[in-house]
Amino acid sequence: MTGVRSTCPYCGVGCGVIATPDGKGSVQIKGDPDHPANRGRLCVKGAALGETLSTGGRLLSPTIRGQEATWNSALDEVAARFSQTIAAHGPDSVALYVSGQLLTEDYYVANKLMKGFIGSANIDTNSRLCMASSVAGHRRAFGSDTVPGQYEDLELADLVVLVGSNLAWCHPVLHQRLMAAKAARPALKIVVIDPRRTATCEGADLHLALAPGADAHLFNLLLCHLADQGQMSADFLAHVSGLEATLAAARSATAAETGLAAADLAAFLALWAGTERVVTVYSQGVNQSDSGTDKVNAILNCHLATGRIGRSGMGPFSVTGQPNAMGGREVGGLANMLACHLDLENPIHRDAVQSFWSSPTMADKPGLKAVDMFRAVEDGRIKALWILHTNPAVTMPDADRVARAIAGCDFVVVSDIWPTTDTARLAHVLLPTAGWGEKDGTVTNSERMISRQRAFAAPPGQARADWWQLAQVAQRMGFAGFDWDGPSALFDEYAALSGVAGGLGSDFDISVLVGADYATLAPTMWPQARKRGGRFFGDGRFHTPDGRARMVPVTARLPEVTPAAQPFRLNTGRVRDQWHTMTRTGTVPRLSQHLGEPYLEVHPTDAARLGLAPASLAEVSNDLGRSVLRVMISDRVQPGHPFAPMHWTGETAPTGRIDALVPGRTDPVSGQPASKSAAVAIRPF
Ligand code: SF4
Repeated sequence: MTGVRSTCPYCGVGCGVIATPDGKGSVQIKGDPDHPANRGRLCVKGAALGETLSTGGRLLSPTIRGQEATWNSALDEVAARFSQTIAAHGPDSVALYVSGQLLTEDYYVANKLMKGFIGSANIDTNSRLCMASSVAGHRRAFGSDTVPGQYEDLELADLVVLVGSNLAWCHPVLHQRLMAAKAARPALKIVVIDPRRTATCEGADLHLALAPGADAHLFNLLLCHLADQGQMSADFLAHVSGLEATLAAARSATAAETGLAAADLAAFLALWAGTERVVTVYSQGVNQSDSGTDKVNAILNCHLATGRIGRSGMGPFSVTGQPNAMGGREVGGLANMLACHLDLENPIHRDAVQSFWSSPTMADKPGLKAVDMFRAVEDGRIKALWILHTNPAVTMPDADRVARAIAGCDFVVVSDIWPTTDTARLAHVLLPTAGWGEKDGTVTNSERMISRQRAFAAPPGQARADWWQLAQVAQRMGFAGFDWDGPSALFDEYAALSGVAGGLGSDFDISVLVGADYATLAPTMWPQARKRGGRFFGDGRFHTPDGRARMVPVTARLPEVTPAAQPFRLNTGRVRDQWHTMTRTGTVPRLSQHLGEPYLEVHPTDAARLGLAPASLAEVSNDLGRSVLRVMISDRVQPGHPFAPMHWTGETAPTGRIDALVPGRTDPVSGQPASKSAAVAIRPF
């Protein structure tokens, strides 16, 4: 078999791969030299994809309450239980919890079923944990969830600022591109803003070890500095509202709150103010906070005030964690969005989508966001729950409580490739799902590039695509409009709906792709109508009612002081060679050679005070849960602010299960949990 062009299923860089099965069960994976995102590069996770494709241990057939079942009986059971629950308790008594791992076509069907036919917006996604604050910040500032720039801007910039982003580990190929650009043009300056001294700092000109949580303080100080130095753009500010109030709010920030040395702070302010081509990249360190949306807007405010947006080599840039978080945003797979960047709370938008779908009803208010959704499962408001491609029993904040909530739910359906995840074990109905390399569809990466995932192997056993499962249940519930013959027809319908959205002013309009040859669809950055794939907002036109961007006043605040009994603030994140809960990467021995077990990175002064020896075990606990981790002593973290990776889910020491310690505290605007700031106690185990 010749090579099949597809897309890596891990991070939001969205690298193209060429998969070549050898006919004997092995598959060679190479970077696709023609894919614009990676130009042939792969990181170690992507390069090891061929070693993850064993089907041993896969879920091969549907099960109902642990007993093997036919597809017909399983789908009938799901449809009947959902219909009965809705009839008895209303549409808001059911919910879908989906994933940034889903393909866009899967997401589209889930969103159509829930919002247009069941009539509830109780569909949310694990992307809520990843980038919801960026979505909310974009919508407040731009009137739309639009990523203004593209990867190329990092290479064309004269200054790249990385905020709360360990790009070297979490978006490795984008980091490789940045490092290659710096090697070719050393004048390109890189600043890393992160409480931790991460691997990304090694390639930076300046590392600002910010006080944890002080991101908005720093960017408020920058805004004041830009104003005081006369560095704002009067021309661009004609397209922006809210400057005076925003500046007034920013004035309350103090340098002391940033925890930075005066010389470092001054160097950063001068560098940013004095450089025209600035890209500010931000990621989970900004988003995963109970003031994440404000932090995003504090960054956007500086770019709007200077007009450093939407032009070559400049702009704010949110990089997403998951392979299709962006596709999920575009399709409307969040509880507070409609479809194609239309507004759920706008009756004209709702009517247009309902008319397009010929649907009997339409959700008319936002549904429950992830944390609230599982609270509703816990207290019985949600009585039937379908979880697709994600493992909330270990990955949601307050994970033990979420696991108990799922265990107590009247009816739980799980679609997954494995029968053994913590969540799959709680399912009443388990549906076997096609995995990467076995299914066809599209994903959108962090720079708005739509790429194909293509199948190069048959799904094992009776595994089927998620969109097919959803469409079958919809039909069994008596709904019309779910009879596609494959993902190509589905994509056509979605692209056509985007044309309707475009007619209503949405930025997301890919209707030029209606009727495109799906089999050969090349990576396509939307909007296609713009030169070079498209940068937004350089022309000063935004998607707000008056067409102007909005600067948002941000009153910066630091995390609350930790209680005396739990004096440490636990930071969480990824490691370089693992992905999520390791159901795929954990099967490749060489990926465990980098960091092979769950650990706690703790500052030497904390370790000495606690009596923790290197490589000993430490118990980390709070009122929510407990974890046992291997001690790694390092001054890369700040005193009082240890770090632990979130991948491991074991039950024997060292255990991992870090999200069991993370409180369900969320940003009030975005609903994104504060996953990087759990108050914990630590003691030798
Ligand atoms: Fe896959 Fe991300 Fe690595 Fe690219 S950078 S190969 S998308 S994990």
